[in-house]
Amino acid sequence: MIPFVEHEFGIYHVMGGLNQLSQAMTKVVEEEGGTVRTNAKVKKLTISGRKVTGIELQDGEIRSFDQVVVNADFGHAFTNLVEPRKLRKYSQENIAKKRYSCSTFMLYLGLRKQYEAPHHNIIFAKDYRSNIGDISLGRLSDDFSFYVQNACVTDKTLAPRGKSTVYILVPVPNNFSGIDWDKEKADYRLRVIDAIENRTPMRDISKQIEIEKIVTPEDWENNYCIYKGATFNLAHNIRQMLYFRPHNKFEELENCYLVGGGTHPGSGLPTIYLSSMISAGLIAKHTKMHKKRSKD
Ligand SMILES: Cc1cc2nc3c(=O)[nH]c(=O)nc-3n(C[C@H](O)[C@H](O)[C@H](O)COP(=O)(O)OP(=O)(O)OC[C@H]3O[C@@H](n4cnc5c(N)ncnc54)[C@H](O)[C@@H]3O)c2cc1C
Repeated sequence: MIPFVEHEFGIYHVMGGLNQLSQAMTKVVEEEGGTVRTNAKVKKLTISGRKVTGIELQDGEIRSFDQVVVNADFGHAFTNLVEPRKLRKYSQENIAKKRYSCSTFMLYLGLRKQYEAPHHNIIFAKDYRSNIGDISLGRLSDDFSFYVQNACVTDKTLAPRGKSTVYILVPVPNNFSGIDWDKEKADYRLRVIDAIENRTPMRDISKQIEIEKIVTPEDWENNYCIYKGATFNLAHNIRQMLYFRPHNKFEELENCYLVGGGTHPGSGLPTIYLSSMISAGLIAKHTKMHKKRSKD
């Protein structure tokens, strides 16, 4: 579906980067009288019986809420934020049995120059089928596909004049593979740089790097709270699609709603925003009914 939508309707770029969407949402929330708190890690959901009553933060602060929306990665949240044995359908064991997407090895680069390459570049493995096979078998391919984003050709706000930011995404196995990324990281980085220099117009990229950040599947899991580093969440096989994903009004706990790529309707940014619209609609409906009942 995604390639069709991209060819038919085009691809949008948010000037300043995707973080601008979050900034804009913060503005709307604040204009409506709400507050946004960041750098406040949630340790667990507080639950009484089957009802979510609020959250406990890492620093011990406890907050009560009428409704809680969990936007953390589904697998991570219900493995870490709820006591074991509280859930049945989505117990830790059942979550671990589901099928998950691949992960990504990321190179974020700040370059001394700007290449005249297109904004989006997808370079396919010569043997695409065996690359996909390796990913599902938990192996690193010698011949891999990768994506290079050269967004500065569209958006001049991303880097100082004459310089640029580029990111490289390589689909790799998620952390069910057991790959030791501390061991693999340096060598894999060299292989990725080599592939860029040989297979894209960025022939001298290794000499142009001013600043760089690597994110491995282990980093996704440990630093960004993504279950097993599966960056595209629960896989989209038929038994985990749409209605078969965790529902927006969480089936197992009351006063608890879900949004994000691991829930209904599915992974991918437009779909993720749809999940938040659905959850917001359900909460609005619930609140309206509740108010009407207390008036009656
Ligand atoms: C490199 C990369 C490229 C991608 N490219 C695309 C693309 O081009 N198009 C597309 O449609 N999709 C893409 N995706 C997939 C998907 O759209 C994104 O991963 C998206 O950010 C997922 O959104 P989310 O809201 O589900 O989760 P997240 O963006 O992970 O948001 C969850 C938030 O919850 C926070 N959190 C988690 N646990 C806690 C806790 N205990 N306490 C407090 N906060 C917590 C996290 O810090 C995070 O900020 C890409 C993903 C990756 C990784």
